[in-house]
Amino acid sequence: MFELDFRNVIVLISLAIHTVLLWILYRYGRKSPGGKEYAFAILAIAGWILPMVFYRAHIANLTEVWARILYIMASFTSTTFFYFTLVFPDQKKISWKIKLILFCESILILVLCLHPSTLIKKIIFVNKGEDVIVWGSFYFLYVCHISLFFVLGFITLFLKLKKYTSAIYKQILYILVGYVGASTLAMVTNLILPWFGYFELNWLGQFFSTIVAAFTTYAILKHKLLNIKLIATEGFILFLNFALFIQLILSNSSGRFLTNSVLLIAVAVISSLLIKSVLKETQRLEEITALAKSLEEANISLRKLDQQKTEFLSIASHQLRTPLSIVNGYIELLKDGAYGKLKRPVTQVLKNMDESNTRLIILVDEFLNITRIEQGRVKFNFEQHDLRVLIDSVVEELCNRAEYKNLYLEWKRPEKQVRVFFDKEKLRHVIFNYIDNAIKYSEEGVITIFVKENEEGVVVKVVDMGIGFERTDEVNLFQKFYRGENVKGTNVNGTGLGLYVCSKFIEAHHGRVWAKSLGLGKGSEFGFWIPYKHL
Ligand code: ADP
Repeated sequence: MFELDFRNVIVLISLAIHTVLLWILYRYGRKSPGGKEYAFAILAIAGWILPMVFYRAHIANLTEVWARILYIMASFTSTTFFYFTLVFPDQKKISWKIKLILFCESILILVLCLHPSTLIKKIIFVNKGEDVIVWGSFYFLYVCHISLFFVLGFITLFLKLKKYTSAIYKQILYILVGYVGASTLAMVTNLILPWFGYFELNWLGQFFSTIVAAFTTYAILKHKLLNIKLIATEGFILFLNFALFIQLILSNSSGRFLTNSVLLIAVAVISSLLIKSVLKETQRLEEITALAKSLEEANISLRKLDQQKTEFLSIASHQLRTPLSIVNGYIELLKDGAYGKLKRPVTQVLKNMDESNTRLIILVDEFLNITRIEQGRVKFNFEQHDLRVLIDSVVEELCNRAEYKNLYLEWKRPEKQVRVFFDKEKLRHVIFNYIDNAIKYSEEGVITIFVKENEEGVVVKVVDMGIGFERTDEVNLFQKFYRGENVKGTNVNGTGLGLYVCSKFIEAHHGRVWAKSLGLGKGSEFGFWIPYKHL
């Protein structure tokens, strides 16, 4: 017969909680330092709860056997705990001497518990109450042994508490608080009171041990937030199976036993499938986390590289700019005849030199712009101006070049002033670039410049009838160093930096840029919008 009273139900619930905790430890804690040893300590507690159920259930005539097992396991709860405190959290190697002492101690307790009269002499069955155990003369030694290891464990953990900070400190603290609470209460109800012959609370220690479970589960979950849902699912499934198993044991008819068995098997199968899928999900989650971490690392090193490159570009450009300006100065002097009249072939060579030097100056200037932008060193000076005046000056500067290519610059100048807050120099750079590109990438036709006002700001568009571009280019044209497919095969020089700088300048005005084309050979539209004023 299996007696399952209210007290045993409570003890069984404690067992279920420990089983779940063991599972959690196995799944998530076994690889962490001290995880295995801690799992052993919890296993010892679970192994101490189980015999209590059988001892109290009065199965056949085995009560005394269960009592002996109960006390053997109780002693293990303290030794395994102490061992764990030595290892945690630094996974310190334990010397063979300590291991030997613990081993001999355990053997001694084993002998003590199994001997017919040293610890347990006999058990007196009490009707409607807890059985009374008649102690042998070594009971005192047994109490000392358990208390000693618990106290040693507390001291060890307490000393370690001072050595660690943050997450590990908290883990140690939770385990310490859980164990001090649970073991002190359990020693009073299960060791001290029975010593004086009071056995009524003999089963409560098992229940108190759930304090350990509660605190450690919290400690684990708190630091494994990512897996909370998975842990909870697994814990719940395990708990469900355990409850069904108990229901099966308690079946009072063969019919019930059969239905309960079928139910248990069905739930167990579904549970195992569910756990499998949960496991897969955890693995995937772990993989994704690892991937995200390595991506983050790669990103950091890329950013570092990018920064180094910007710095290099900045230094190189600065060093290049001065000699180029000097060369430019000499070319001007030569052209002006400061060193005498030049012969015809020399003038041609000088012209070529001038062109190449100007190209190089533009390139270095773009580099300098980019490095300044990327290092956040560009200074903006926002003031209200008439945008028309700015465009007037750009058109004036570029009309000769357009004419030289037989292109017509049509500036649709609005009659009213277009007053906007902008940085003159930067916006000039953008409009100049747009029109300059339109000239560069057109062989014929008209280049039209529009300005339109809307409620929030101003739109500027430069429309040409030039080489156009495909949709694939559209999204990339404003990227750094990007040169479109449309220019491949042409002999138009370029760096792919102009539009990038433009987009950055417009971004600083809180505006946006765009490029549109109906396709290759069908002309293009480059535009930007900026608000009248941004805060
Ligand atoms: P670059 O002109 O030096 O190559 P940009 O950044 O000014 O660099 O322009 C990037 C790319 O955009 C050009 O290489 C070209 O493919 C395309 N592009 C710019 N303006 C035009 C235009 N008006 N018509 C067609 N394509 C253009």
